[in-house]
Formats: sequence, C-alpha cells, structure tokens
Amino acid sequence: MPYDFDLFVIGGGSGGVRCARIVAGHGARVAVAEERFWGGTCVNVGCVPKKLMVMAAEYGLAAQDSHGFGWDTAPGRFDWAALIAAKGREIGRLNGIYRRLLDGSGCAIFDARAVFLDAHTLDVGGQRLTAERIVLATGGRPARPDFPGAAHTIVSDDAFFLPDLPRRIVLLGGGYIAVEFAGIFAGLGAEVDVVYRQPLPLRGFDEDLRTDLAQAMAAGGIRLHPGATIVAVEEAGGTKRVTLSDGTALDADLVFTATGRLPNTAGLGLERAGVATDAAGAVRVNDRAETSAAHVFAIGDVTNRLNLTPVAIAEGHALADRLFGAGPRDWALNAVATAVFSVPPIATVGLTEAAAAARGPADIYLTRFTPMRHALSGRARKTMMKLVVCQKTQRVLGAHMLGEDAPEIIQGLSIALNCGATKQDFDRTVGIHPTAAEEFVTLRTRTRVA
Ligand code: NDP
Repeated sequence: MPYDFDLFVIGGGSGGVRCARIVAGHGARVAVAEERFWGGTCVNVGCVPKKLMVMAAEYGLAAQDSHGFGWDTAPGRFDWAALIAAKGREIGRLNGIYRRLLDGSGCAIFDARAVFLDAHTLDVGGQRLTAERIVLATGGRPARPDFPGAAHTIVSDDAFFLPDLPRRIVLLGGGYIAVEFAGIFAGLGAEVDVVYRQPLPLRGFDEDLRTDLAQAMAAGGIRLHPGATIVAVEEAGGTKRVTLSDGTALDADLVFTATGRLPNTAGLGLERAGVATDAAGAVRVNDRAETSAAHVFAIGDVTNRLNLTPVAIAEGHALADRLFGAGPRDWALNAVATAVFSVPPIATVGLTEAAAAARGPADIYLTRFTPMRHALSGRARKTMMKLVVCQKTQRVLGAHMLGEDAPEIIQGLSIALNCGATKQDFDRTVGIHPTAAEEFVTLRTRTRVA
C-alpha cells in the first residue's frame, strides 16, 4: 500500500526537527507535526531563554564586582519586562529559523497535533495521513506535585512569562531547574528559598560538586532548606503561606515547583500502534531508538533517559542516517558532558568519585581556589575542579567543575575523556596562563584515593 510519507515525525523540538531535516536530505518524503511551538522545550521554555536569564542575573553581579576594579557603577534598576520582551524577540527569531530550515529542506510541515488512528495512520489536525515509519519526538512537560494548595504554584513553563519579578520566591526541588532558577531570581534581586528533600542539591552529581554548590548558593544569598518538602500552600491577599515538612512557614509572592519532567505520551493513541510505555509513560526503546512496534521509533525526552537537547539531536540524526542514509554516525552517548547553569555554573563529564570507586581504586585530584576576578572583586566565590582517575590504567574517568566558565571548559575536556586520555596526557599538556582551565593540567598532587 502506498503511504503518504516515508517517515512522519511527531514533535518539532530539537530532536524531531534534526531527524526530519536529515531524512529530507536523504531524499525521502518526510513530514513533521508540531502542536505548540517550533524548537520545542529547549528553544521556547528551556535551555535558551533560561540561559539568557542567567546572563541577565550575571550582569547585575558583574556590576557589583566592577567596584573592585575601580568602576564607580551606581546600582541600576532592573527592568523585568524589558528582559522578557528582549527574550521573546530572540525566541521568535529562533522559531522562525527552525521553521525555515524545515521548509528549505523539503519537509512537509503541519502546525497541528498528530495522533495515531491505527499503526500507520495519523490524525493530523483533522487530516488522515499515512506513513511507512513514524518517529515519536514529543518531549516532556513539567511534573506538577500534588499537595494542598498546589494550584497556587507555577512550573518552569510559566516562569518565562511572569508579568513582574516577584520579590519573595520559594522553589521546590533540588534538580537542574530549581538550582538554575534560584541563581536567576537571586541574581536579579529577589529573596529566594529553595526547598529540597535530599541533604544536598543535584542528587547523582559528584558529592564535592553538590557540597560546594550548596555553599555557593548560600554565599549568593539563597536560603536553603535541605531535607524538607512543601506540604501545603495557602493564599491570602496575594501572599502565599508555604508550610514545609519540618514545620517552617515561609511567606512568598511566588511558589515555583521543579520536581522533574514527564514524557508526553498521553492521548497519542500509542496503543493503536502497539507502542509500549513504562510506568512513567515513557516510550520504551532500545539503543537504536526502536520501540515495541517495528515501524515506530522514539528519540529524546519522550524516552526519559538522558533528557538533554544535544542527546535528542544526536539520536534523531543517527536514526535518520540509519533508516535512510549510508550508515549512522557514531556518537559517544556513554560519556555525555552536562552543565547546570547555576550561579556560578557546574559542568561535569564521566564518572563521579563514588561511581568510580565502586569499580575499583581511583586517584582523586581536587583543587579549590579563589578565581583571579574575585581577588579584586571581593566576592566570596570559590572555584572547584576535580579529576577522578582509574588507579590501574591512569585513565581519567571523570572531570568535574564548579565555577565561572565551567561549561565552556568541560566541553573541551569531554573530548579528552572520549579519547581515553590518561592523567599523564593531562600532565604533559601545557596550560594557557592565566586561566582557571590551566588548573586541570597542573593538578600534580593526589588529594586522596577513593
Ligand atoms: P530533576 O529530575 O533534575 O530534579 C527533580 C528534583 O525534584 C529533585 O531534586 C527531586 O528530588 C525533586 N522531587 C521530585 N519529586 C518530588 C516530590 N514529589 N516532592 C519533592 N521533591 C521532589 O528535574 P528538573 O525538574 O529540575 O529538570 C528536569 C530535567 O530537565 C532534568 O533532569 C534535565 O534532564 C533537564 N534539564 C536540563 C538542564 C541542563 O542541561 N542545564 C536544565 C534544566 C533541565 P530527588 O533527588 O530526591 O528525587
């Protein structure tokens, strides 16, 4: 039976758009449907606008820091509406680019929701369309916790469109989003409380990073409530009274929950195509993006594995090449570097100290220092860098950093780790002086054995 398309991609986020464009480049008949916004979470309510807002926060801090360098900068007024409008213009520009890239690639575009009618037939905004193969790239959405008064809280999707900067903000969660928005709001001048149920933020990250991050957040004026959660929110006269599990009561103008994200699979009719999901609703896939239905594939956050934009892009590109091209590219998805754009940021690649130690003895090299800028600025901010090295092979298994420019530095180091660099390869590399990055090649003395 002839199909309308060789491949239909559901979801126009980073992964879906990359997959569709590469498939079109291979000469196949491809379509992509997006019901909400082109570019998906990353471009619209995630990585991109978040980073612009982190930059806004950093300008305010840099203005304070400049006093130590002789500048007589008067404290300025921060205009939230101007930031949101500027951010909106940039996101609008990027939406246009995403759509034009698809248009130019020869891909059919549908601004509509697509739902399975049967294994190969989709309802796309009221049209019945058929495809030989289908890719699920529908991403995820913020989870909404359930406690009395949860209706008075917002999630990250809302945070990018607030009319004003609230004066007092309570964040729930100790993950990427809570940590990043805490830095944004505190940097812009709000009073921020962060409530998280672990002893330290960022469960799963290296312990030294977690400890130093908590200290850096506190040094930045953020009030931390470890080992706690929100049990209720009551609203009275515009103020939100937040009750924590440890009995603390906080008054806030905004309560922001960032307790993880859920895959977008509800209502897609996956059962009509024989596509299996797990208990959390994520599409089950193998490492070739294959689902339980032979002609349906899934990439990115809808599979709820490594929920990072560049991973979704790599999966989408590799799938497109595998299905329609000469052969897949080889991406190193086993050692993906990641960054948390806290203030200051964290970046990390490879194994934590605990994970490495579980495999065998590991040499730990660790340094903490005041970065050059803050010798003069007077800001109480330290940088931490750490290498985790396999004692037997001397291969560097993990590199971790908290401090200014950490994401820019760790990206380069992730190449070295993917190449299997040893500690001795780091040692024979000549540094760039004066930088913070050079510390990674001058870590001479082992701190401890793990
Ligand atoms: P995370 O999964 O990173 O963190 C969720 C946090 O919420 C954890 O601290 C978790 O605690 C806590 N939590 C979960 N459920 C509850 C609950 N019922 N009550 C109280 N606390 C709870 O999710 P985020 O929402 O921060 O981010 C979602 C994902 O988006 C990230 O994991 C990441 O993949 C991606 N992302 C990536 C970014 C980047 O690359 N820079 C930036 C932003 C998001 P516990 O640890 O105890 O489970």
